[in-house]
Amino acid sequence: MSIKVGVLGARGRVGSTIVAGLEGVEGVELVAALDHGDDKNQLTESGAEVIVDFTVPDQVMGNLQFCIEHGIHCVVGTTGFDEERLAQVRAWCEDNPGVGVLIAPNFAISAVLAMAFARQAATYFESAEVVEYHHPNKLDAPSGTAVHTAQGIARARREAGMEPAPDATEKALDGSRGASVEGIPVHAVRMQGMNAHEEIIFGTQGQTLTIRQDSYDRTSFVPGVVVGIRTVAQRPGLTVGLDSYLGL
Ligand code: NAP
Repeated sequence: MSIKVGVLGARGRVGSTIVAGLEGVEGVELVAALDHGDDKNQLTESGAEVIVDFTVPDQVMGNLQFCIEHGIHCVVGTTGFDEERLAQVRAWCEDNPGVGVLIAPNFAISAVLAMAFARQAATYFESAEVVEYHHPNKLDAPSGTAVHTAQGIARARREAGMEPAPDATEKALDGSRGASVEGIPVHAVRMQGMNAHEEIIFGTQGQTLTIRQDSYDRTSFVPGVVVGIRTVAQRPGLTVGLDSYLGL
């Protein structure tokens, strides 16, 4: 039996990539592809069991309320979730036990694994810096993924009682040591020809370790979304981040 899936934001940049990417995926059947202005009742009429939402922060809460109240599991890539919104989603889930909701800030499995490996490596090296590379149309710097990576490393170092990384810099051009995220330098490169890439560099006596991930285009989100679709019904309540679905 295939899992019946509806995509919300189906004409958007990511949503349209997900619609195309689900074609031919074993055990998954796309039954509804909705965008702005479409009637959400199409989801219930088509028998959708799971929705994938890549819409806009303004709309996603209404979509989630509708789906959770109709017993439809949700796999969500749309951004803009603060603690208040997460608490609201948790409350809807409590009122509708059995419904699973996955909200993942990053569906690229390579990026999620890179962050997990970085947390694992963090306490074995005195020095740690993050370099992220993106296309030049990106509006924010550093990327959310790079900030999250640095926070994970910083937390692991703190918990292990580590000293700050050695750095004798006394004089520096503004920005030359990157942005400090909880003490971890994060460098942002904006480069024509690139898409989304990240390097985490660790160093200790006589050796370095570099963890690198590359997302070449939006198809990089498809395998993570498929993991979400296949797993969400077995994880009632709210899950934030793909990590636990990947066994991390
Ligand atoms: P986009 O191209 O603007 O796509 C959003 C689409 O959703 C548009 O087609 C929009 O239609 C439609 N939409 C708006 N309200 C809707 C509603 N109520 N129901 C159904 N569809 C609706 O944006 P995008 O680049 O695809 O990104 C979408 C979201 O995913 C953003 O929040 C982005 O930050 C996030 N994102 C997450 C990940 C991740 O891995 N988690 C990766 C990339 C992007 P109109 O244009 O007509 O309003």
